[in-house]
Amino acid sequence: MRKKIIAGNWKMNNTVGQGICLAKEINLALRVKTPQCTVILCVPHTHISAVEGIIDHDKLFVGGQDCSIYEKGAYTGEVSAEMLFGAGARYVILGHSERRSLCHETADILKTKVGKALMHKLKIIFCVGESLEQREAGKHFSVVEEQLKQSLFHLTDAEFGKIVIAYEPVWAIGTGKTASSAQAQEIHAHIRKTIAAHYGKAIADECSILYGGSMNAGNVKELIAQPDVDGGLIGGAALAANTFLPIVEAY
Ligand code: PEP
Repeated sequence: MRKKIIAGNWKMNNTVGQGICLAKEINLALRVKTPQCTVILCVPHTHISAVEGIIDHDKLFVGGQDCSIYEKGAYTGEVSAEMLFGAGARYVILGHSERRSLCHETADILKTKVGKALMHKLKIIFCVGESLEQREAGKHFSVVEEQLKQSLFHLTDAEFGKIVIAYEPVWAIGTGKTASSAQAQEIHAHIRKTIAAHYGKAIADECSILYGGSMNAGNVKELIAQPDVDGGLIGGAALAANTFLPIVEAY
C-alpha cells in the first residue's frame, strides 16, 4: 500500500512564533486523534528547527521548501540540503511552480537539487504541473511527462523510491479553482503510467502522487477518493489549524 500524505506548504508566511503556535495546535490535535496518513509541515528554513523541536515525531514531519544546488561555501543566502537535514527536515519540496517561475528554476537546476537532497537523506516532494495556457492547448500530459523525465528519470530505482510527486496545475494554485476530481484522476493516472513505463509497474504503484491546487475541507474527500490521488499538498488552507486539520481528518 502506498503512503497517503497530507503536506502543508506554508510558503513565506508566519513568523517563527506564529509558526510554533500553529505547529503546536496541529500536533496537539494529532495527539488526540491519530492521523491515518503521513502529515508533513513544509515551513520556512528559519522555522525548521523550532517546529521540529515541538512535534511528536511519530505523527508529524517537518520539511523545507527548497534547497541549494550547492553543497557548501561562498553562496550568500543559500541553504544547503545538509543544513535542512541537520535542522530536522526530513522532506523538501522541489520544483514548486512559484520557484520555477519566480526564481527561474530550470529542469537542470532541479535535477541538481534532487541530487543534493537525496545525498543528504531528504525525501523529495517534487512538483509538476501545467499552466492554464498549456492545459487549454491540450499539452498538460506532455508538460508533466517532460518535467518528470528531465529532472527525475536519471535516478536509480532506489533513489526514485524517495520521491513523492505533487501534481499542481498552476491555474489552481492559490486561485480557489480546483481541478475536478475527474481531471485530477486522469492526469495522476497518466503520471503513474509514465513512471511505470520507465521504472516498471511495481515502483509506479508504490509512488505517492499528491494533488495540489486550492485543496480544502470542501473538496478533499472527492479528490482523495480517486484511485491515483494519494493525498495533497496544501498552501492557503495549511495556514490555520481549523482549515488544515479537516483535510488531514478526511483520511
Ligand atoms: C501550493 O502552492 O502548493 C498550493 C497547493 O497552494 P494552494 O493550496 O493555496 O492552492
